[in-house]
Amino acid sequence: MTLFPEQVDSFLDSSVIGRARKAGKIEIKCYNIRDYSEDKHKRVDDSLYGGGFGMLMQPGPVCRCFDAVSEECPGTHALYMSPKGRRFTQNRAKKLLRYPSVTILCGHYEGVDQRALDIIGAEEISIGDYVLTGGEIPAMAVVDTVSRMVEGVLPSAECYEQDSISCGLLEGPQYTKPAEFRGLQVPQVLQSGNHELIRRWRKQQALSITKQRRKDLYRAYIRAHPEDEEEL
Ligand code: SAM
Repeated sequence: MTLFPEQVDSFLDSSVIGRARKAGKIEIKCYNIRDYSEDKHKRVDDSLYGGGFGMLMQPGPVCRCFDAVSEECPGTHALYMSPKGRRFTQNRAKKLLRYPSVTILCGHYEGVDQRALDIIGAEEISIGDYVLTGGEIPAMAVVDTVSRMVEGVLPSAECYEQDSISCGLLEGPQYTKPAEFRGLQVPQVLQSGNHELIRRWRKQQALSITKQRRKDLYRAYIRAHPEDEEEL
């Protein structure tokens, strides 16, 4: 649910998400909240009660738009993208996969009238401690993260299970051809063909970069896999 469908259309039509939609692996429909305005000029925002800078999205168009979504997807789980929300994580994305349908409300201006959020029962989700102009980019972050975990969207579950964060560690450095570029060589071990050596090297690199950059992740990983500390 957005006031600016043109901001998300090209994203939803291209790359992995576009292909998954065409193949029928996921279904995404964009609703323009402005279509649900009853104002003759299609206005959807107004000034703040109590005064203050900027405009707020009115509850009427948002709730009527959500009613239309709910008619097509009864019981849909509502999310509101908001810097005040719970931080979005890979784990939260995995949990969202369990809902048959999720509806994302993108705010704009100074946000959305609280009554609309209460009525649609929106779970508030933030993509980080910074403020964007609108919820469209945050919504696309959620759509992308969740969609690539839907069965059949990527060639296999390994593609996302072995990614940074998902596997509990950060990924070590990766290389492709050529073997030498501007005087820099691909590490010999990766060219050795010895799968066990490569597996150990990758694990060491992942442990080392995680220990350096994300002590929180490292500690949690080692608590769950104490035997791996010896790999370092
Ligand atoms: N006045 C609001 C506040 O202080 O919380 C910020 C409004 S922001 C300019 C406009 C819209 O962008 C929000 O309604 C929300 O949908 C979206 N947005 C901005 N930052 C976000 C973030 N970090 N995570 C998720 N959504 C965000």
